[in-house]
Amino acid sequence: MRVGRFAPSPTGAMHLGNARTALLAWLHTRAAGGRHILRFEDLDVGRVRDWAYDCTRRDLEWLGLDWDAEYLQSQRLEHYAGALGRLDTYPCTCTRKEVLAAIQQSAGAPHGEEAVYAGTCRQQTAHPERPAALRWRVPDAEVCAHDQLRPEPLCQHLPRDVGDFVLRRSDGVYAYHLAVVVDDALMNVTDVVRGADLLSATPRQMALQGALGYPAPRYWHLPLMTNYGGERLAKRGGAPPLRDLRERGKGPERVLGDLAHSLGWPEWADLPPEVTAAELLERVPEWFGRLMVES
Ligand code: GLU
Repeated sequence: MRVGRFAPSPTGAMHLGNARTALLAWLHTRAAGGRHILRFEDLDVGRVRDWAYDCTRRDLEWLGLDWDAEYLQSQRLEHYAGALGRLDTYPCTCTRKEVLAAIQQSAGAPHGEEAVYAGTCRQQTAHPERPAALRWRVPDAEVCAHDQLRPEPLCQHLPRDVGDFVLRRSDGVYAYHLAVVVDDALMNVTDVVRGADLLSATPRQMALQGALGYPAPRYWHLPLMTNYGGERLAKRGGAPPLRDLRERGKGPERVLGDLAHSLGWPEWADLPPEVTAAELLERVPEWFGRLMVES
């Protein structure tokens, strides 16, 4: 049985970019006759807005997208604790500033876009009096993520390109990478359809899957929606929330039509400007469907 999911962070109102990801994840699961999960990624309590849960549910329903089960990560902490206990971690009390200073001093780093942790606390924790984050001692290996929408795999060497990353912050919050890996496994997720911003996180998530003995799902990283200036839509960047369009009387069919056309898929070029989610499901392009056939 195919299992897909949409995993929003309830930190604000969904914008069109979130809606496009939600739509494609839903189409992907439903076209394969699979089970679809809504999972609220709400571990970072400081950023969660209580109203965002209902707002997200209402936005999805308004678009005509449904789901078979709903989970809140904030109610699943024992699963993350259990997984964390099975991994080789060490406490780290360095502040962000100290971590960056160590990176600048170390020979090989930083490179690429991301600063790679220099492993300062690997042997010994510098400030035992401070609350400690837990870092994963990453295996000395290269991990390649094969994305279904890209011809080339994305390979990262864990110590060189990723570094020992935090699995539990010093304030006790479990890291997204740990939670997502545990949840996808325990929820039997087979297909992950999400934004391209998470592609570079996939090798490290696959490394965690390997260490925990979980199977790797298949990945589809979707291009992110941009505004006219070419900038990625973001909740913080003032992208218009779906809720506003809804309240201004724009119909869901019109929003879905705009989202479908925004993809530029030739198979959808002749879609009318207004469509329902069910109509889109009937017209899922063959190549998108073919990828979903059991391999
Ligand atoms: N919660 C993440 C987000 O809203 C998505 C995580 C995922 O799909 O793996 O960007």
